Amino acid sequence: EITADQLTADTLANIKKTEDKVNAFITVDENAKPAEDLNFDNKLAGIPIAVKDNIITNGLKTTAASHILDNFVPVYESTVVGKLKAAQATVIGKTNMDEFAMGSSTETSYFGDTKNPWNLNKVPGGSSGGSAAAVASGEVVAALGSDTGGSIRQPASFNGIFGIKPTYGRVSRWGLIAFASSLDQIGVMSKRVKDSAEVLNVIAGGDDRDATVSEQAVPDYTSFLGKDVKGLRVAVPKEYMSDAVEEGVRKAVQKQIDTLKEAGAVINEVSLPHTKYVVPTYYIIASSEASSNLERFDGIRYGFRAEAKNLDEVYLNTRSEGFGDEVKRRIMLGSFALSAGAYDKFFLQAAKVRTLICEDFDKIFEDNDVIVGPVSTETAFDLNSEITDPIKMYNNDILTISANMAGIPAASVPAGLSETTGMPVGFQIMGKRFDEGHVFQVADFIERSN
Ligand code: GLN
Repeated sequence: EITADQLTADTLANIKKTEDKVNAFITVDENAKPAEDLNFDNKLAGIPIAVKDNIITNGLKTTAASHILDNFVPVYESTVVGKLKAAQATVIGKTNMDEFAMGSSTETSYFGDTKNPWNLNKVPGGSSGGSAAAVASGEVVAALGSDTGGSIRQPASFNGIFGIKPTYGRVSRWGLIAFASSLDQIGVMSKRVKDSAEVLNVIAGGDDRDATVSEQAVPDYTSFLGKDVKGLRVAVPKEYMSDAVEEGVRKAVQKQIDTLKEAGAVINEVSLPHTKYVVPTYYIIASSEASSNLERFDGIRYGFRAEAKNLDEVYLNTRSEGFGDEVKRRIMLGSFALSAGAYDKFFLQAAKVRTLICEDFDKIFEDNDVIVGPVSTETAFDLNSEITDPIKMYNNDILTISANMAGIPAASVPAGLSETTGMPVGFQIMGKRFDEGHVFQVADFIERSN
């Protein structure tokens, strides 16, 4: 038995000890207190939870890991954090991330690198690398992340934890600092599958402030746990098991597929023929939307304002000094893809290819309940090894970004360690829109068999 006050104090003390090594947090709320009159019918009552720093927290600094917001203290609450607080969870702090969630290693943060707790010389993945490292190092049991193109699943896989990106429209994006609004989705990361089910139970569901969120009833996600997989139809896209995927990753993933087969699941080899186009398609769409969403950071409305002699200089200097290189790269790429001469050839073309990618998935889901494969082509790489090569970094996203373009739920569940690198491998499970149930069912089954 432990009181919620004691749990909060212990959590803060443990974070303090661990942060020197891991740097998972941008802000720790030293004044965090459990909700008053705890009602333990609330599964999250008194439980400390970490929140990615692109999710607005009323009264607690929210930076999106950018210099341009490094003094921004919001005066309103995001829907998800409001729901966590109503469920009496304790928000313990804000986690490090790639700047505006652009990146795959948490190295584009203005607040320094987060280290992978499995090996401090390696990246935690990204962009939700701080949330993943906070969970993997035992600082918190669960954390919120956001996933625009793999940013929950890839860091979950690099840190040997569970992470789920729900269906687009399952969780309100009100108060999520927008990166690419047609792709962004808030989700959950935790060591145990069950803990993410409990948190998703709380944060999912309708919200008048986000017109893209569904009013569909939220099932109890824990009701999908503890089941077998007999007769379940499991698709394996051949493009996801190609030589482009590290051998150690492929072997660990194949082992999970064999486990499902032995348990009576029906394994079907399928094809996602447009996989070779997903990286350029995603980077055009995501950067275009980002270039528009980031217009609001002008030095007037929020956060940092640079020295300037006139209004034009306020804009120019604030954005030049306030944004990091990766964010500027995306703004330039996106502004170009949307510009009059380029729109037809780039943005419009990408939007059409996106439809083809969606159709690939719809077709497979006619005869299958889930699609499985690796999350990433590799395991956690060395700090400073890929940050200088953006194209390489982008290409590594090939296995995660399709789920965002199709809007389907997708998770990463630990699949043991890679024989080649000794680092954790993630097993990806994708489901039909609003069928998080099957994703949880398979993830929980894999968790129990490892
Ligand atoms: N690596 C992807 C990108 O940089 C992932 C982004 C995300 O999901 N937030 O765009």
